[in-house]
Amino acid sequence: MTEAVLTPGADLPESSGTTQAAGGFSLARGLNALREEMDAPVASFFSSCVHCGLCATACPFFVETGDPKYTPIHKLEPMRILWEQEFTFWGKLKGVLREKLPLDKLGLDKHFAGKQVTDEMLAEWEPLLYDSCTMCGRCSMVCPVGNDIQYMIRKAREGQVASGHSPEGLVAASVRAVNTGSPMGLKWKTLDVQIRHVEQSTGLEVPIDKQGADYLVLLSSMEIINFPEYLEALTKIFAHAGVSWTLSQQCFEATNAGIQIGSKDIAAVLVQRVVDAAEALDVKNVISPECGHAYTAIRWEGPNAIKRAYPFKVFHIIEVLDQLRADGRIKTEGREDDRLSLHDPCNLARKSGVIQQQRNLMDLVAENFVDLKEHGKMQWCCGAGGGVSSNERAEALKLAAFKKKKAQIEEVEPDRMVTMCATCRTQLEEGLEEFTMDIPVIGLTELIADHLVESDEGTHA
Ligand code: SF4
Ligand code: SF4
Repeated sequence: MTEAVLTPGADLPESSGTTQAAGGFSLARGLNALREEMDAPVASFFSSCVHCGLCATACPFFVETGDPKYTPIHKLEPMRILWEQEFTFWGKLKGVLREKLPLDKLGLDKHFAGKQVTDEMLAEWEPLLYDSCTMCGRCSMVCPVGNDIQYMIRKAREGQVASGHSPEGLVAASVRAVNTGSPMGLKWKTLDVQIRHVEQSTGLEVPIDKQGADYLVLLSSMEIINFPEYLEALTKIFAHAGVSWTLSQQCFEATNAGIQIGSKDIAAVLVQRVVDAAEALDVKNVISPECGHAYTAIRWEGPNAIKRAYPFKVFHIIEVLDQLRADGRIKTEGREDDRLSLHDPCNLARKSGVIQQQRNLMDLVAENFVDLKEHGKMQWCCGAGGGVSSNERAEALKLAAFKKKKAQIEEVEPDRMVTMCATCRTQLEEGLEEFTMDIPVIGLTELIADHLVESDEGTHA
């Protein structure tokens, strides 16, 4: 099991109110967490499964390894066993038989009336639920009876955390997120240095803690570290379009390690920080950065995590840019003439329906755009989402899953790839380099900023 960095009270501040702060890990707690997650959709999904195996054909981890243990529904076997035993007639009957019959005397195996979920089983399933699943949702799209498998995987991870069977990398990221505000341990002063660089290079002000701004801009630590050009691009575009925006010193991080690891308590703590910062500044809207997972965390899971509606709206940066385009507030000049293709982040396209917006923006600046054959809601995952990128143990599998994306890219032979998620972008860059494919990757916000019309005065019009 993981080092108990989520150990009760040891690393998490009491104010976090997390389950982990209240007691140790155990099989009993894991099973209880799984029971708590068994809602009506989960029960109906398990009872509807016709064992056709189609979900396997949609999963990059199965497709690229051919290993049946990576069949999506199989990743949920401990949860399914518990559901069958405790929520179905036949399961309960088997339980009675197991209790009443003298199995030893009858020469029957202890599993004769069905397998039991044990601590060993949860340990065995840990890599299946974390290393080989990005919660990309592609399996949910193909299931003939409509089972939302990634929804169940998100819930099954709650049981893994409570039983102490979650990956060290994700545990450490969760602790850092709760203790420092960032899963990578970044503090405001690091961002502040980057802000000064942006202001020097653009001559524009990066607004901080501006009361009543229209938009509160969130960033992701991975973006701050790997792609500082994002903040510069956004600063230029918002100045050009006359957008009222601000960063918050109280909370700048958009990603939510609690949702990735599967801890609704930690998820709620992290969402609440965003809400507190937005309410303190009285902003009308919150913008999730170029990060797919952060968007679904704040936009879809957030209100459920904190059990109340927000007094502001949430948008992904690409939605905001496309609206500015539609309103005639972004004016561009020139177009890229090399062959560009697009990787749709799963959380943005498949899970949130943001598909046309990025193509509208590509139309502004790309002369020679080609879509990957399967794109939009049926696009293939890059292989790094859902916490896989924070889990060092999953490195080899992450690369295996990337082969599907590689094959898609090879089909259309682009000169460069464009995307709008820092995790996807990092995985694309690393994967393409691993397979010695010389295809640079660029963020869409940056690409738009490169084509803004400048006024005669040298400022953006
Ligand atoms: S959500 Fe994606 S990665 Fe996870 S099992 Fe389904 S297809 Fe595979
Ligand atoms: S595709 Fe749906 S019905 Fe078929 S095995 Fe997977 S979960 Fe079950």
